[in-house]
Amino acid sequence: MTESLLPGGAAAASPPKPRIAVLKLASCDGCQLAFLGLGDKLLELSRMVEIVHFAEAGPIGPLTGLDITFIEGSLSTREDLAMVQAVRKESRILVTIGACATSGGIQALRNLSSGTPLSGLYPSPQVIDFLDRSTPVASEVPVDLELWGCPVTGEQILRTLRSLLSGALPPVERDKVCLECKRRQLPCVMVTKGIPCLGPVTLTGCGALCPAFDRGCYGCFGPAENPETASLALRFSGLGLVPGEIARRFLFINNNAPVFLGEGARWQEGSPHE
Ligand code: SF4
Ligand code: SF4
Repeated sequence: MTESLLPGGAAAASPPKPRIAVLKLASCDGCQLAFLGLGDKLLELSRMVEIVHFAEAGPIGPLTGLDITFIEGSLSTREDLAMVQAVRKESRILVTIGACATSGGIQALRNLSSGTPLSGLYPSPQVIDFLDRSTPVASEVPVDLELWGCPVTGEQILRTLRSLLSGALPPVERDKVCLECKRRQLPCVMVTKGIPCLGPVTLTGCGALCPAFDRGCYGCFGPAENPETASLALRFSGLGLVPGEIARRFLFINNNAPVFLGEGARWQEGSPHE
């Protein structure tokens, strides 16, 4: 991307600020909180852009003439879908933030059940116009940039905004969490403690947060490039996990990401090697 986001071009005397919106679909609000968690940096940001719509933070202006729209949450209702289709037409750049918007999130687990027991979840499910499946935003409209994470980090958001405001796409992470462990010189929790860890198949970006606290990664940044999920699943089996546990490792936050969905499904009914 070479074109400046500044309407009228960066050379104009007093160009209007780029218009930004932050929207929420079906989600927990965690990724929006990553914006709010920026604190002083968010104030600095608000001097560079016009935050037109960000209900969690206050502004609820019209969703028209937008330069960058960030969307949190998965498509779960017909109302979500209509909003996303309308906003796509009004946005020069559409960015999905977090596992829900980018892969369908934890709520996509309902896609795996034969009948969603909505009556057990909502007192009046008939007032909610559910879609048949819970899906990522990109399944219905073109998305320019996808930020993985559950939640995304403030640093990811800032880096993305700064790049877009300067007319460039942000660098894309391709490494696995394991590489981050090596860079940080963290002892591998799987090798040293036998803790199952999805780091070998998960995209980095979190700074190997969980292994730094002696926990295995549970894949919240989604699949890395060329993930060897079959080998890792066998390693989990060697660590004593039964097939159902292995399936659940993959069918978790990013259960709807095709490579995790495929590996999870292979182990759901028992070991694929028996
Ligand atoms: S702790 Fe997990 S992410 Fe870190 S090196 Fe070991 S397997 Fe990879
Ligand atoms: S280590 Fe894994 S689960 Fe933990 S924050 Fe990073 S990507 Fe997410």
